Amino acid sequence: MGVFAKAGELPSNWFIFKTARYAKRETDSGRTGVHYDFVEEALISRCRAITLKGGWCKNEAVPDQKVCKTHARAANLELKPDA
Ligand SMILES: [Zn+2]
Repeated sequence: MGVFAKAGELPSNWFIFKTARYAKRETDSGRTGVHYDFVEEALISRCRAITLKGGWCKNEAVPDQKVCKTHARAANLELKPDA
């Protein structure tokens, strides 16, 4: 299972984007290449924490949470307010 996220093509102030999850399929013998089967659409939210440098964290938030794994463990978080 992987997420095909084209984060490099997103604007620096991206907030949420839709992507699709695919499951890697075992290749049949005699066929070459890797095949992926579509699984589901997924909404990726951005971590809402403000970094020590004052920038907006670029990580993806944990599903159903406002921050990424790194910031979920940090205390006294400064979060970007809802737009
Ligand atoms: Zn973060």
